[in-house]
Amino acid sequence: MALTDENPNKMSFPLQDELMRLKPLTWINPSRAGVRELDALPVHFQDIIEASALWERFAPYLALAFPETQKSQGIIESALKAIPKMQADMDERFGFQAGGKLLLKCDHELPVCGSIKARGGMYEVLHYAEQLALQHGLIHQGESYEAFCTERFRRFFSQYSIGVGSTGNLGLSIGIISARLGFQVSVYMSADAREWKKNLLREKGARVLEFSGDFSEAIAEGRKTTRALSNGYFVDDEQSKYLFLGYSVAALRLKSQLEALKIQVDAAHPLFVYSPCGVGGSPGGVAFGLRQVFGDAVHCFFVEPTHSPAVLLGLLTDKMQEVCVQDFGIDNRTEADGLAVGRPSAFATAISKYTISGAYTIGDDELFRLLYELSRSEQIQLEPSATAGLMGPHRIRQMGYARMQGINPDAVTHIAWATGGALVPAEEMNHFLEKGKSLLKAPAVA
Ligand SMILES: *Cc1c(COP(=O)(O)O)cnc(C)c1O
Repeated sequence: MALTDENPNKMSFPLQDELMRLKPLTWINPSRAGVRELDALPVHFQDIIEASALWERFAPYLALAFPETQKSQGIIESALKAIPKMQADMDERFGFQAGGKLLLKCDHELPVCGSIKARGGMYEVLHYAEQLALQHGLIHQGESYEAFCTERFRRFFSQYSIGVGSTGNLGLSIGIISARLGFQVSVYMSADAREWKKNLLREKGARVLEFSGDFSEAIAEGRKTTRALSNGYFVDDEQSKYLFLGYSVAALRLKSQLEALKIQVDAAHPLFVYSPCGVGGSPGGVAFGLRQVFGDAVHCFFVEPTHSPAVLLGLLTDKMQEVCVQDFGIDNRTEADGLAVGRPSAFATAISKYTISGAYTIGDDELFRLLYELSRSEQIQLEPSATAGLMGPHRIRQMGYARMQGINPDAVTHIAWATGGALVPAEEMNHFLEKGKSLLKAPAVA
């Protein structure tokens, strides 16, 4: 069955109007396709299996290059854990029960990068490094990838340049892995990137170029400069298939984790997953993987700041990467730096159009409230962007989505994807917590 290009929402100006007025809103995707229709997408289950195999080939290298990954034998993965106290606190604050069970996917603890970018960003650089090494006969099939740690490999990679545009975390992931492999690496940082992220990158051996413009401008500059180099490779967050596939592997790992927790996933016990969304690459890759693994039993929702609803606008208008939030008079100013994105990823959004169940927007103040609330209830600290999914169970319950789908709300397993935070300096985290605490004193609505 072919995917239909009909988007009944093309004319939904009322929602567009609310977005432009920066009102938090919830949107259900009318174009979500059934799992059999997903075969028509440009990526398939087999691509996830191959991406997973690449991670395994590189595991011995990663365990050597980043000793913090030794205890997981070089596999970069995070825990999945229940957060019942947070769930109860939110039930109380919002004045109704979301139902079901809330879990946190702890990507804020991912080794090396402390954010979900350890999946996509590191994957794309490892993929490129492997390609070069195979092409030039440095490594052959079946040999140990520990060799990538040697001076011979580092000298070889130093002839090549990698570039990336970033609001912070993607730059960290690309910068850290590229510099460790021996590449020349330049990170084009948007104006909203945090000072400590730039400093950390310089410490790791990356070149940091600062721009006064936003993310799209930093990407455009990085793309142009890197592609002009004879040995330049640009990691393109607005178009990359490899970032996407790197993220998608999370779905295979999540399946094992749910099994270990004895959590059943089927039509009567579905999974609702809430992912903070910037260009849509990380949530899109994860959603694609989850739909391949769990079929129609998983419902994925994207979350964007009210000031940066890039992917939602792309989907609503069906114009995808052709529109940016500024076209609609929206300023793209948010303290959620990982989500401060005005234009969606072309590659990811064309796929997410068919995989996701919906999206909602959230104000910056609420991100800080959730940040403080999670720290108080569970002693877990996230960066502001990473808290956006925590409100998902209440938002989606409030609009009656489960009932519309014939699902018992109490049978749902909710997963809030915590996308980053481990590397945030203590002083900055304290500032975030203080801000959340004072905002929490004011009344709130889900
Ligand atoms: C990058 C990032 C996201 C969003 O990922 P995209 O691929 O840009 O959609 C969410 N949260 C954090 C902390 C991030 O760094």
